[in-house]
Amino acid sequence: MIEEKGILFVLSGPSGVGKGTVRKALFSQKTDLKYSISMTTREKRPGEQEGVDYFFKSKEDFETLIEQKQLLEYAKYVNNYYGTPRNYVEKTLAAGHDVFLEIEVQGALQVRENFPEGVFIFLFPPSLEELKNRILHRGTETEELVLNRLKEARKEIEMMDAYDYVVVNDDVGFAVSKIQAIIQSEHLRRERIAKQYKRILEDEL
Ligand code: 5GP
Repeated sequence: MIEEKGILFVLSGPSGVGKGTVRKALFSQKTDLKYSISMTTREKRPGEQEGVDYFFKSKEDFETLIEQKQLLEYAKYVNNYYGTPRNYVEKTLAAGHDVFLEIEVQGALQVRENFPEGVFIFLFPPSLEELKNRILHRGTETEELVLNRLKEARKEIEMMDAYDYVVVNDDVGFAVSKIQAIIQSEHLRRERIAKQYKRILEDEL
């Protein structure tokens, strides 16, 4: 059964909840989803590749992209810009493929405005204690920064109301299976597929 347009899936959630880990685990399995590679002004980390992990941009180039409205959404996170290329997302959806975004919460809210028909998944921490541990274990931050991030994370959790699904990240494997179940269910929604099934009624009995 061929659907005309792909579905946009957006995975988001508070800082430190493990969005990147869950996304990588999802894409390490066989999938028809197309991951939209983001643009960022942050430094490349060891092992990261241009055009695989991100498109790495200068601040000036990123600001030009903003002016030219080439980004579907963007946000400033820890002093760096992150954004989703509009063209890739629109073309890929139009070609009938599902697109998957893994972005922070401010960006997800912007996407919701442009793509209300998208499917928004909120990754939820098992507990605040666990979230604190994860933020602490990134290791690179001062105590003040950690406290700020935790405060920010609390505010981000309150944004859960803008989402369609909530998946708790107590275990990466379980979280991935739940996301796969969401994707499968969304493809079975009556309003997305009724037209094709109704073609059967056009045949003579
Ligand atoms: P990191 O620097 O650790 O790769 O990513 C930092 C944060 O930026 C993560 O929460 C990640 O989900 C988010 N992020 C990655 N790409 C984008 C994007 O295109 N737009 C927005 N708004 N956030 C992004």
